[in-house]
Amino acid sequence: MTDVRHERTLILIKPDGVQRALTGEILARLERVGLKVVALKMLRAERPVLERHYPASEEWVRTIGGKTREAFETYGMDVRAVMGTEDPLEIGRRVRGWLIDFMQTTPIVAAVLEGVHAVSVARKVVGATLPVFAAPGTIRGDFSIDAPTVANAARRPVRNLIHASGSVEEAAQEVPLWFAPAELHAYRRADEDVMLGDEERRGPRHAG
Ligand code: GDP
Repeated sequence: MTDVRHERTLILIKPDGVQRALTGEILARLERVGLKVVALKMLRAERPVLERHYPASEEWVRTIGGKTREAFETYGMDVRAVMGTEDPLEIGRRVRGWLIDFMQTTPIVAAVLEGVHAVSVARKVVGATLPVFAAPGTIRGDFSIDAPTVANAARRPVRNLIHASGSVEEAAQEVPLWFAPAELHAYRRADEDVMLGDEERRGPRHAG
């Protein structure tokens, strides 16, 4: 198991975040909590990379399809009328297609953040998937009002500004998908000293 102090997570600022000029605000919130930016770039996402990022595996597609169908049902919307099917697998394939298309509409910003339990801390700061339910104080809760009712009817992905890896396993797959090893950097944040124990403080300093 990796030392939890150096856990890494991938974030992508999606086209809606970039277009709304929220890149700085989003990164500032993640840095402010104590996460260290160890890789950062703006890029045009390529379809083959997005197809691996949003996997075509039955498990992933069925999960997202099931969640989307639930959202239709919660609001009493006719899922068949919009999606042409009630099958979670088929609905999931549609949403995956919307996502892959949307992520190519403008440049996006990719970053790797490192820190104590980086994956769960980043998810906490980012907030729940659906902005309409995301808590105030989170990125999605503070900067987006989007809801699946509106998104599904418009046949587009929910605009929630940012992707953050959902688990340590997911992060381990996503980081090398977006960054080569040479693009990841080691350095010390000044405030890391405050978090160290006395013994570590006396010991040899990290590289960088
Ligand atoms: P995340 O890990 O919080 O981003 O959420 P998921 O992996 O479950 O979903 C991936 C992306 O699909 C989300 O970030 C949204 O952009 C989009 N999405 C999720 N649920 C729905 C939905 O019910 N309807 C639509 N249209 N898009 C959705």
